[in-house]
Amino acid sequence: VNTCLDRIRTTEPVVQALVHTDAENALNTARSLDAQGPSADMPLWGVPIILKDLLATKGQPTTCCSKMLENFTPFYNAHVVDRLQQAGAIVLAKSNMDEFAMGSSTENSAVQQTKNPWDTTRVPGGSSGGSAAAVAAGQAPGALGTDTGGSIRQPAGFCGIVGLKPTYGRVSRYGLVAYGSSLDQIGPMTRCVADSAAILQAIAGHDPKDSTSVAIEVPDYTAALEQTTDLSGWRIGVPREYWGDGLSDEVAETCRAFLDQAREHGAELVDVSLPHTKYAIATYYILVMAEASSNLSRFDGVRYGHRADDAANLMEMYSKSRSQGFGREVQRRILLGTYALSAGYYDAYYKKAAQVRRLIRDDYLQAFASCDLLCGPVAPTTAFGLGEKTDDPLQMYLTDIFTNPLNLTGLPGLSLPAGIGRTSGLPVGVQLFGPAFGESALLQAGHVLE
Ligand code: GLN
Repeated sequence: VNTCLDRIRTTEPVVQALVHTDAENALNTARSLDAQGPSADMPLWGVPIILKDLLATKGQPTTCCSKMLENFTPFYNAHVVDRLQQAGAIVLAKSNMDEFAMGSSTENSAVQQTKNPWDTTRVPGGSSGGSAAAVAAGQAPGALGTDTGGSIRQPAGFCGIVGLKPTYGRVSRYGLVAYGSSLDQIGPMTRCVADSAAILQAIAGHDPKDSTSVAIEVPDYTAALEQTTDLSGWRIGVPREYWGDGLSDEVAETCRAFLDQAREHGAELVDVSLPHTKYAIATYYILVMAEASSNLSRFDGVRYGHRADDAANLMEMYSKSRSQGFGREVQRRILLGTYALSAGYYDAYYKKAAQVRRLIRDDYLQAFASCDLLCGPVAPTTAFGLGEKTDDPLQMYLTDIFTNPLNLTGLPGLSLPAGIGRTSGLPVGVQLFGPAFGESALLQAGHVLE
């Protein structure tokens, strides 16, 4: 804990990854863990962890980096926080994020602008950009992020670390402030695959408080890593749609070198097609905004959140509270989502998107009939400049082209550092996709190839 706190002191003035650090609390927990000594049922004994600031932490602020929740302190822990603490981990800090997880660069935070530790004129990615930058800057060995449309994998890729989005249902969402409930998953962000395996081990499993968490056995992920030394007999699908237009040369070439490495380790590369991929961004943004507009209705200044103090009547109190509490991007999404769900438009937008979602999922399921894993780049480019895309929401949405589709399918994905881009000198992320509950296979392959 002291090492991490020192590191936070030296890097944080520049990186600005954290929005709340409770050093005293972390040190006290560390002292009592020291007094207890290590034990087999605490595999994360004494490991400091950073949490994205949309995970409820008892007695500690949980703001989603929004003015709306500026003063919110939950009286309970998210399920994953309890599980980490039971495993002996120490909550060190809460990390910066796009407001309510809406964004791809962490520039939508109402608190501060996190910088990419590799180049502080660039974004760390988003929305879990604070978690990614913190781990990349050595502030903690691991962090939790959430991935609704890429928010673990893309910032992991931009910051040169490992990030895992588990299968929908693998990890309980209880105590995660909901954004797109049918898409959200919590997962680890770490410097190596073995650390992600250890954190996933602690947080995975059924929780009666989240009805979408699935009651199937959690395998021993760490033991699985030790069993695999090469990839002979593995078939890795290379989806055509991920390797074509819009991909920058340096990302294409670094990811191709990763594929070559997989081949050298014995894997067979298979050409596959996921033909509905081109509809994924439109489908994702319709569905996620619709779900967000519904989820965020609870922040009305009465049930939750900031309340305007200068309202003349009830309606004005709602509208002023929401106008003052939510930033521009959140307001845009609530409006668009409400439109997509409204009578007369529902069939054309929400229902159609739900139907296309199924087609996208079917593409993936078909590909997994002949492949063990799939592989593609995480994002079309390396980390872009601060402010480069903030004036053009559509350009920002388009950066999610390779990450959104997976969330629509519910399947798991692992983002790995593939190398350094030749032109930008920045990390390039590559991702592996797996079949439902195929986290062991993802981690095994990632461990061989990292
Ligand atoms: N960039 C996507 C969005 O803004 C993904 C965000 C996320 O995964 N939380 O919705």
